[in-house]
Amino acid sequence: DRREPASLSQLVQDVLVLVEKDLQKHRIHCQTQFSGEPWSAVNGCQVQQVLLNLIINARQAMDAGGVLSITVQANPEEGFSEVTVRDTGVGIPADKLPQIFAPFFTTKEVDDQGQGGTGLGLALCKDVIEAHQGRIRVESVVGKGTAFILRFPLVPAPR
Ligand code: ADP
Ligand code: MG
Repeated sequence: DRREPASLSQLVQDVLVLVEKDLQKHRIHCQTQFSGEPWSAVNGCQVQQVLLNLIINARQAMDAGGVLSITVQANPEEGFSEVTVRDTGVGIPADKLPQIFAPFFTTKEVDDQGQGGTGLGLALCKDVIEAHQGRIRVESVVGKGTAFILRFPLVPAPR
């Protein structure tokens, strides 16, 4: 396990470079807001994979396009950094919310190209974040959109 202090804003920006073209293609406008430049001790690859999973889910929830907003904030809660990934997609019905982090839970049906959901994306996100002593929670309104809120313990920025 390789955990090193990393700037969460930097991790977000690195992932956005990877998905930028794909988001444009799906008519998704991306906006970011960085405040406080928090650092946390993370396995950078794992946290990038978490962000990627959340962004892909967001994209799949916005079939007709929409807005993806990612905010990074230091200290919304004492000693924690926060990353929020928000979409203006279909939302998640209240009765499904308790299940979405369970392995193999998916609402994505197999299409004619054999593509469906594995239901493993959010289960992995939760595992990775908990291994970092962090937290993940979701807020969603059907027809309005969904936000995944991640928190990681803060570490001092290197100087
Ligand atoms: P998969 O994407 O393979 O279905 P995930 O674990 O990533 O598996 O997500 C599980 C389920 O949670 C999805 O099938 C979907 O129903 C719901 N979900 C996750 N993210 C979103 C989102 N941003 N908007 C709406 N529904 C979502
Ligand atoms: Mg997924």
